[in-house]
Amino acid sequence: MHLTLKCPKCDASLPIDAADSAAEIVCGGCQRKIPLDISDAVRKETAVDRCPVCSGSDFYIRKDFNPTIGVTVVAIGAGISAVFYWFGRDLIAYSILAFAALTDLIVYGRLKDLTVCYRCHSEFRGAYKHTAAAFDLHTADVLEMEYERKIGRR
Ligand SMILES: [Zn+2]
Ligand SMILES: [Zn+2]
Repeated sequence: MHLTLKCPKCDASLPIDAADSAAEIVCGGCQRKIPLDISDAVRKETAVDRCPVCSGSDFYIRKDFNPTIGVTVVAIGAGISAVFYWFGRDLIAYSILAFAALTDLIVYGRLKDLTVCYRCHSEFRGAYKHTAAAFDLHTADVLEMEYERKIGRR
């Protein structure tokens, strides 16, 4: 399983492979040592049951989506379509716009699910069974605050 951990101190993204990761990693950004508590399920890529960084067991699922790509596709589409619209080619303008939106939709549909830790925002990618629920703002509020108090940010 591929993990993208978030450093509790400086928020740097730290990619690791759960299968052969050490019990402790050092953050490349701030040199902080981060002890990892990798569960058997995470190591064997069967499930995400416990977060190696914060030991939390509350996760949500989101699409592995890079929002800037989607926005760029639509923005380029809108730009080209505006030119046609300017020259009175409404139909072509609308077609291009629709095409851009459709491309966006197809790209989005093909994206894989990704599990994220509510508390420390570590990300889990792999072929395991995705059992977590969708993002819930209230849960995030409560758990993030709890975690930030624990690591002394608040
Ligand atoms: Zn750091
Ligand atoms: Zn966590």
